[in-house]
Amino acid sequence: MRSTLGGTCLNVGCIPSKALLHNSHLYKEAKTGFSKRGIECSDIKLNLQQLMKAKEDAVGKLTGGIELLFRKNKVDWIKGKGSFKDANNIEVTTADGTRSVIHGKNIIIATGSEPAPFPGFEIDEKQIITSTGALSLEKVPEKMIVIGGGVIGLELGSVWSRLGSEVTVVEYLPAIGAGMDAELAKTFQRTLTKQGMKFKCNTKVVGSEKANGKVLVKVESVKTGKAESLEADVVLVSVGRRPYTEGLGLDNVDIKPDAKGRIDLDAQFRTSVPHIRVIGDVTHGPMLAHKAEEEGIAAVEYITNGYGHVNYNVIPSVIYTHPEVAWVGKTEQQLKEEGVKYRVGSFPFVANSRAKTIDDAEGLVKVLTDAETDRILGAHIIGTNAGEMIQEAALAMEYGGSAEDVARTCHAHPTLSEAFKEACMAAYSKPIHA
Ligand SMILES: Cc1cc2nc3c(=O)[nH]c(=O)nc-3n(C[C@H](O)[C@H](O)[C@H](O)COP(=O)(O)OP(=O)(O)OC[C@H]3O[C@@H](n4cnc5c(N)ncnc54)[C@H](O)[C@@H]3O)c2cc1C
Repeated sequence: MRSTLGGTCLNVGCIPSKALLHNSHLYKEAKTGFSKRGIECSDIKLNLQQLMKAKEDAVGKLTGGIELLFRKNKVDWIKGKGSFKDANNIEVTTADGTRSVIHGKNIIIATGSEPAPFPGFEIDEKQIITSTGALSLEKVPEKMIVIGGGVIGLELGSVWSRLGSEVTVVEYLPAIGAGMDAELAKTFQRTLTKQGMKFKCNTKVVGSEKANGKVLVKVESVKTGKAESLEADVVLVSVGRRPYTEGLGLDNVDIKPDAKGRIDLDAQFRTSVPHIRVIGDVTHGPMLAHKAEEEGIAAVEYITNGYGHVNYNVIPSVIYTHPEVAWVGKTEQQLKEEGVKYRVGSFPFVANSRAKTIDDAEGLVKVLTDAETDRILGAHIIGTNAGEMIQEAALAMEYGGSAEDVARTCHAHPTLSEAFKEACMAAYSKPIHA
């Protein structure tokens, strides 16, 4: 039971991981990138304790901020584990074992998710760890193996690689990147490889063994079946997350999660018991904080006004590595599968003046539009600040905008966003600067 507010996102997810990503990037830049920019530093050392403290400070400020918001908005908070007694009553057990029952006319289940286990790997959060352990290791492991090349594995693998670990990512699929556009996934893997990370794709993890203070990870090639053992000081198991409903007493209200543990819902976020709604990681859809947030608001709007809205076609995804990878809407693969006629407009950051000015010009913007109407159907960006830039695509898509709409919008110069404008130009005509 967690004693602070903010769920996974603030306590052991988005916020601590981004604090570590930012500061580990600065450390690596100071070590390897500053001198070419004319900044001479000597004797650059890592103070891991301080790095962790900076992360904890960020978490503390934000979780405390939610307490303030709760008080300001008159939201009561009971610190305890909740369990359905029946369809309108929740029994809450606090840390000291005290029990109480609260009554709800309407109830929203938002119990989130937990790291999915992996057979043959017993999590101790020291040597065999989940993302939670990876956010607070006490020393930099010499060798780290990351099982799973999805968003969390790549972000936290990057953190420890920058801090000095030799990181190998083992991925069952032929490519990394959790369903991102295939062209971007290739560029991304090349970039991370240049940064020092190693990848073993098409590789199946079959078990582990501990010996002499190390972990041996047994793997097999998916294609040939060839077996080998990889040695690591720490193994990060990041094979996805699963909905969390343990101890929630769903049986008492006859709500049955599906085979993947998700609670089913209708378009108004109602479970099979209409006044009990469900949002976030514990139900269907991408496990993202902003998706959970939008659903939370819409579910409450349904309760109070009778209407609400989440546009599932426009939920951006971001990987906060350097460069960042961000996307929204359809991938080329999806459009092909759906038989949609589309156009592609792309623009490389190497032709963008701001990216060149700051000597950070890896990556590209790729925009997918409807071949007939020019409406933006998807956008895929790899590059510095991609996570901010993707909002331009999201906003255009939310308003049903076309590539020409964006391209005819005056963009400030010199900005990275001009690359987005040029990719839009390329989609319906041609870019100016390439
Ligand atoms: C390392 C990591 C990095 C991530 N980075 C990002 C990111 O950059 N961007 C992004 O969008 N998403 C990110 N995510 C995902 C994001 O954290 C989740 O999608 C989001 O937190 C889901 O919100 P939620 O409200 O559904 O559930 P949660 O945030 O998981 O909250 C559920 C809360 O309910 C509590 N709870 C559960 N059961 C009970 C019960 N019976 N009684 C009382 N309380 C209970 C839990 O303790 C928890 O506090 C990341 C996740 C991880 C692990």
